[in-house]
Amino acid sequence: MEWEPDAAKEIEKIPEHVRKMAKMGIETSVEKKGKNIVTIEDVKEASQRFNSLMKKDEKTTKIAIVRCDIVSETCPGMACFKAFNKRKVHFSDYGEAEIIGFFTCGGCPGRRVFRLVDSLIKHDVDVVHLSSCMLMEGGYPKCPHIDEIRQMILKKGVKVVEGTHH
Ligand code: SF4
Repeated sequence: MEWEPDAAKEIEKIPEHVRKMAKMGIETSVEKKGKNIVTIEDVKEASQRFNSLMKKDEKTTKIAIVRCDIVSETCPGMACFKAFNKRKVHFSDYGEAEIIGFFTCGGCPGRRVFRLVDSLIKHDVDVVHLSSCMLMEGGYPKCPHIDEIRQMILKKGVKVVEGTHH
């Protein structure tokens, strides 16, 4: 099988340890097209196919947010969702991700967290964010039960991230 110079140059960009396999894959697909010369288009087509396969395999991170029951009386949660939707602040490192739960602690001392994290685990939650309203000291005091709530979630084997939009 012959390779056009552009195609041969392009394949050199692939890491050496997978190059041989990539070359074989490309040549097989070129053969199937009834051709005996590899063009730059063949290499790009193979690379697109590979990238879309990688995307399919990329796991979606399932996120839940727990927030203060007292603050929920006055806050519908816009800032938490805005930060997630724009992948800002404590959501900036996520690729494919979705929020699967948004719940309040159930009131002091966070009586609902234990039960609701169990439900979230059944739906494969990866991480629970402690909302910024539980952590900040401003118009209302920082949650006095934050350590117990954090431990409660961690003991269930679920990762905890401190904060949402601050
Ligand atoms: S436990 Fe903390 S987060 Fe929950 S209502 Fe009380 S102060 Fe708010």
